[in-house]
Amino acid sequence: MKILRLILGDQLNIKHSWFKETNDAIMYCMFEMRQETDYVAHHIQKVIGFFAAMREFSKDMKSKDHKVIYLKINDEDNTQSLADNLSFLIKKLEIETFEYIYPDEYRLDEQLHTFCKSLSIPSKVVSAEHFYTKREDLSNFFKGKKQYLMENFYRDMRKKYNILMIANQPEGGKWNYDKSNRNKWKGDVEIPNYKLFKNDVSEIAKDIENTKIKTIGTFETKTFSYPISRTQALEQLKYFCEHLLIHFGDYQDAMHTDEDYLFHSRLSFAMNLKLISPKDIVTTIMNYYRKHGEHINISQVEGFIRQIIGWREYMRGMYWTFMPEYKTKNELENHNKLPDFFWTGNTKMNCLKHAITNSLDNGYAHHIQRLMITGNYALLTQTNPDEVDAWYLGIYVDAIEWVQLTNTRGMSQFADGGKIATKPYVSSGSYINKMSNYCSGCHYNKSKKLEDDACPFNSLYWNFLDEKREYLGNNFRMGMMYNLLDKMDKTELQNIKEKAQHIIANQDDY
Ligand code: FAD
Ligand code: SF4
Repeated sequence: MKILRLILGDQLNIKHSWFKETNDAIMYCMFEMRQETDYVAHHIQKVIGFFAAMREFSKDMKSKDHKVIYLKINDEDNTQSLADNLSFLIKKLEIETFEYIYPDEYRLDEQLHTFCKSLSIPSKVVSAEHFYTKREDLSNFFKGKKQYLMENFYRDMRKKYNILMIANQPEGGKWNYDKSNRNKWKGDVEIPNYKLFKNDVSEIAKDIENTKIKTIGTFETKTFSYPISRTQALEQLKYFCEHLLIHFGDYQDAMHTDEDYLFHSRLSFAMNLKLISPKDIVTTIMNYYRKHGEHINISQVEGFIRQIIGWREYMRGMYWTFMPEYKTKNELENHNKLPDFFWTGNTKMNCLKHAITNSLDNGYAHHIQRLMITGNYALLTQTNPDEVDAWYLGIYVDAIEWVQLTNTRGMSQFADGGKIATKPYVSSGSYINKMSNYCSGCHYNKSKKLEDDACPFNSLYWNFLDEKREYLGNNFRMGMMYNLLDKMDKTELQNIKEKAQHIIANQDDY
């Protein structure tokens, strides 16, 4: 045996050029490992989903006559460490060259780099052939510019790849329809049934139970509902085009007690494992739009395209620009702990109860739940970003560090001092009430600040602004809020601050 090629759990791209031809001199290897299950406590469905997709992928590879060694989590030969498993196979199979695909996570990139340096045989690393951009493209794009701005990057991507462009101008006359993406969903527009797969993962669940891997979240359904193969990912995408795209943009920021997914695509797990590529998605969406454009407003399509070629590529570029320092950033100097209810959903705050229950039950929450409910609360309670990162990295089935860290520490917690977001995403209860029906069924009153039944977000919000004035007072985009704070009666502010301090010290009582 001459060449050993490693496929990591998030590199399941069957369209990769590696797999175009079969070759008996090439052995592929895939490992389920404690190294990956234990570096943070993951959601049970996340571990199950990764193993299910990996097993499916290796089956597919074998059926196409590729040679694959697959080590399950409980296999005797499995050392549970990437370097040790690779060393074992290199020796056993008398490998002459080791090859791998660029990992998307800094931790694995470093580990494989060090491993290759220790080898006495040559090694080679190749592109994942997944993203539009290369790791370094974003930092090159912003070289010499004063500020990183997603919008500038996004417009460049639209032009470069000729997406929603007519004669070098944005189709429809506008680059961005963000302002029309802010409707509250009141039940008047019907949401079609969600497309939930019923993947039988009972064997994997048993393996995980037997190996006593520590997990979080629940697994009541006993089947895995996200796509675990390219075929399923394409089905999910087709369903999104035919049933959900029509209102995606309108209700992108909406939240509702009865709806876990609204018009969201549920494609992030499949995309992050590379079962499907962003190019597959953009091409399919654009073809659908060209065929059915008379029924679909451009704002829905642009809203979705922006997430894929804008935010997703931007976050990856920012990750590679600022790692490894990014992972230690805490510019607002927040040091509190997350309350226990983040792991139980046991709180009287209805918005948090729903966002956390969705996360615990489905390993999922949509963007505004992540940003404006759990993230907003963690920031207002001045939680240590390490704590917030560990929760987000564990709880979501789609959480891989390159996209989780930039969204959590950067966009949501402003711990990078404003590299990703130009102002902190914080709000009082009134924003939550504007975008959801949470407040109408809540123990607390969204309009009150100080009373026993006052919405905790209200006092936390003004307390946060006051406490973080040193860091945020000069932020141009925060000027209006600081003007309002300055006009507030001093005694009232003092009372608000005391109330907020009480909430922070007793979070699990609220
Ligand atoms: P849709 O709403 O249907 O959006 C379509 C796709 O756009 C998503 O699948 C995703 O690939 C992409 N996208 C949308 N927003 C973003 C974004 N801000 N950054 C990158 N891609 C985006 N996304 C992850 O994939 N993994 C994470 O670990 C993750 N952690 C997050 C943490 C926080 C605090 C926040 C605010 C957001 C996070 N996101 C993360 C981004 C976003 O919330 C999820 O991608 C989205 O909710 C996934 O559901 P969906 O596929 O139904 O998305
Ligand atoms: Fe959340 Fe406050 Fe509304 Fe209750 S009243 S749902 S705590 S924003």
